[in-house]
Amino acid sequence: MKPRPLPKTVAPLPDELLSGWLSRLAAANYCDDAELLAHIKIDTAQGTALDFSVDAATAERIANAARVEPDVVRSLTFPAMTPREASLTAQMPFQHCMQCSREGLSLRHWRRAWAFDCQVCGTSLVQTLGKPGEEQISGKLIYRARRGAGMLECAARSRGPKQLRRAMRAVTFAMSLKTFRGDPSFAVQNPRSEVRLFCLAAIAAARSQPLAKTAIVSKSIDDYARVALLRAFEKEPRLLAAVDHIAQRRAKSAGPMTAASHN
Ligand SMILES: [Zn+2]
Repeated sequence: MKPRPLPKTVAPLPDELLSGWLSRLAAANYCDDAELLAHIKIDTAQGTALDFSVDAATAERIANAARVEPDVVRSLTFPAMTPREASLTAQMPFQHCMQCSREGLSLRHWRRAWAFDCQVCGTSLVQTLGKPGEEQISGKLIYRARRGAGMLECAARSRGPKQLRRAMRAVTFAMSLKTFRGDPSFAVQNPRSEVRLFCLAAIAAARSQPLAKTAIVSKSIDDYARVALLRAFEKEPRLLAAVDHIAQRRAKSAGPMTAASHN
């Protein structure tokens, strides 16, 4: 059964996500998201999954209700992604643009782990769990994180896996320093800015100072940094052995209580 067409329709905007457009459609028709989905006979639990794939029957029902072509509905979902891109694309919103959100927008590029500034208005994106008093975050960290984000994008879109592997190794290193557990690809999609910015900044830092080199040149590598280094190289046994050897030697010559500088 086809749902009745809604009284009002809204034109999708460039880069808009299906879930965001459906919210605007609901608002234009004076109902909430759940009521709209019920009208189109879509399970509410399916709501955000629609951004990644929408089957032909569902696209048809939405198109009919919104009085647009089914192709328009499909164009609001993510296009096919490489596994690398997919691992760095958030299933749920983790950051947004304050300015565009106020107008009810939800854009596709905000979901990318490397997105840093809104491509529509240029405002810096904010983490969904960011604290209001973010001024404690230094300008230097933000500057480095923005550079790291750009490098992450290049790595995610590069042909070979090498660049991304290097970037993720830096993230793993940063995570260990912050005692943050989990998958490195999730750390750069973290809804808390202190974790995400630190990890992105590490990608930029590792470019000018590769981690293995960090182990070699560090005059004072403490146990903490040593564990972080080991964790970063965990998946590469040969490099791990070399790094451990260097780090141990350094730790011995520097003494156990020396504070390390990670900048
Ligand atoms: Zn914006």
